[in-house]
Amino acid sequence: MIKMIFSKKQIVGIIGTLLTMIGVFLPAFSMNTFDDLTLFNHGKGDGVIILGVCIFALILLLFRKFIAFILVTLISSTIIGMKLYKFDHLVHDIKRDTIQALNGNPFEIYGISIINSAQLRYGWMILCAGCCISLGTIFIRNKKQRTAPQLSDTNIPNQSIVHAAFEMNAQPYNETKACPYCAQSIRITAIKCKYCEKMLEET
Ligand SMILES: [Zn+2]
Repeated sequence: MIKMIFSKKQIVGIIGTLLTMIGVFLPAFSMNTFDDLTLFNHGKGDGVIILGVCIFALILLLFRKFIAFILVTLISSTIIGMKLYKFDHLVHDIKRDTIQALNGNPFEIYGISIINSAQLRYGWMILCAGCCISLGTIFIRNKKQRTAPQLSDTNIPNQSIVHAAFEMNAQPYNETKACPYCAQSIRITAIKCKYCEKMLEET
């Protein structure tokens, strides 16, 4: 049987990576006159690269290759970061060019309002959140690492077992009974009463 129990680190990594993959298809950029642009339909292959990198990252997660996963996630994060930077510049350039072109044009105000509507959409937030969550797995400890200190933990039960065994051995020594002749309290293992000096028969 294949063990399909994921560690917390794996689950967080999978959530982060899936979020990044979803983000690729979400509107990342919008302008009044244009359809919403996603990284997938506008990224000129970058969206596909990110999807490929994410699938690779998921495979690495399944095999618990966490260091490789972080490196691969850093690559996709860098691509996303660069795209975000480019998008931001693109918007800035379009705004500048349009304002220059519309200078003196009666539709200037209308044009500017369209350009000002150009904005980054929530797709970027999903992409960035996905990357952050994925990279956040660095701070999640593996359960395997936590089993190591158990060696010292086992000393505690051992000590208590020894202590209990010692107490069990000690118990008959401290236990008392009443002497059948003088009714004084004497040790249960006594063969002769120390008070009346009568020999006790084994019971
Ligand atoms: Zn006695």
